[in-house]
Formats: sequence, structure tokens, C-alpha cells
Amino acid sequence: MTALQVDTLCKSFGGVRAVDEVSFTLGETELLALIGPNGAGKSTCFNMLNGQIRPDVGTIRLFGRDITGTPPRAVWRLGVGRTFQITATFGSMTVMENVQVALLSHHRRLRALIPYAGALYRDEAMALLDLVGMADQAARACGTLAYGDLKRLELAVALANEPRVLLMDEPTAGMAPQERVQLMRLTADIVRDKGVSVLFTEHDMDVVFGHADRVMVLDRGRLVAEGTPSEVRANAEVQQIYLGS
Ligand code: ADP
Ligand code: MG
Repeated sequence: MTALQVDTLCKSFGGVRAVDEVSFTLGETELLALIGPNGAGKSTCFNMLNGQIRPDVGTIRLFGRDITGTPPRAVWRLGVGRTFQITATFGSMTVMENVQVALLSHHRRLRALIPYAGALYRDEAMALLDLVGMADQAARACGTLAYGDLKRLELAVALANEPRVLLMDEPTAGMAPQERVQLMRLTADIVRDKGVSVLFTEHDMDVVFGHADRVMVLDRGRLVAEGTPSEVRANAEVQQIYLGS
């Protein structure tokens, strides 16, 4: 079964064709990388996939179901997760509380938050924190977390929704090289253990080629290459885009 099937997706902003006839599939339990220079259209693709932006043309199917034009909240409910920026909104809450709120939201019990504060979904939240290696920081306020830890917390929050597909737009941006490798390893484990399909973008080519099952290359809105890491690395057009040679 195909997790995502994307057909001839197009999106223009004014005169700029940000995404130009992009078609691809994301297989079940696949770790698929979307790479390309700044402004290539990667984030615009992500924004269409989770319903934030409606495509001008094209269709998006999630496990065979047409979700084109479905609003973000409904897409989220259908199992398309996206890593969130936690810093701004929930910085004064603890790591544990952030995951509990995500679980309450997923189980449609957000209103239970006030009477039972702290008691609900503790074990489930702890299991998710354990999965991302954050169990020992459960009681910390997230505003005080190191950047890399915040990114791992974002992953735990996204997983609370039990996504079938996870979209990660530059999950390792701002991280030290070692942290990048760690987060990608963790993501690969999650793909394997939870059966999630992941589409991600990443600037560090060593991280991409070392971890992705498959790589797609976007340049000025168009997919110019697609294949295994070794195929894409050997592709002449890709070398030209990245090395200017
Ligand atoms: P990437 O994520 O690969 O860096 P983006 O998808 O953010 O690329 O951008 C692709 C192109 O679309 C760029 O030329 C960018 O300036 C343009 N663009 C993206 N979002 C908007 C927007 N909301 N309004 C106008 N232009 C946009
Ligand atoms: Mg982007």
C-alpha cells in the first residue's frame, strides 16, 4: 500500500511557480528525503500535503483516499503528523505536560485537562518520552530545554497523534552535526518500530544519504531526480545543482 500518492501538484505565488508538476509516492514505512536548494519549493510541498495550502492543480491521496483541499485539522485527524514548534506556545509547561496535552487532544479529551490536570495519560506520555530519550527530563519546563531536546520533544508530541505519515520540514535545522545524526537515527527507529512513513527535508547531505531509503531532488519547483541515495548522489544534474560543476 502507498502511504501518499501525489500527482502533478502545482502551486504558484504571483508569477512564481513554487511547485511545478510534482508527482511522487511515499511507500509504507519508508523514510523518504526531499532535498533541494533554498527556494526550491520543499516547504510549499509540505504545506500542500498537510492541507495548509490548497494546490492550484494536482491530487494528494493518503492510503488511497483523496485528501486534496482537506483542511489541516482534518488531515491531522486522518493521520498526517507534522512536527510543531513548541517554544512559542507551551514554553512554561513541563515536557511531560506538553505530551499529555497532545495525547488529550488526540483522544478528544482536552476539556478533561482542567479537572484532572496532570493525571491523565501519564504512562502513555512517559512511554513516548522514553522513546525519544527524554524520560529523564519529563519534569523540566520546556522553555529551559536545549535546542536538540526541544526537537525530540516535538517528535514525541507529533507521535502522540499516532500518525501514519509524518512530515518533517528541516527537523534538524540549527542542530549540531552530532545531534542531526542522532535525530535521524531516532526517526529511522520510529519508522521501523511504529510503522510510520516519513517524508523529511534536510540540508546536511551526509545525514540524507546516510539515513534515507530514497531521495528526491527538487530544483526551482520541479523534481529533477529520484532514487536510492547512491543513485541520486551519482546523478549528474544533482551534482550540478549542489556543486555547480
Ligand atoms: P524551500 O522550502 O525549498 O526553501 P519554499 O517552498 O519555501 O522553498 O519556497 C518556494 C518558492 O515559493 C520561493 O520562491 C518562495 O519565495 C516562494 N514562496 C513560498 N511561500 C510563499 C508565499 N506564501 N507567498 C509568496 N511566495 C512564496
Ligand atoms: Mg523550506
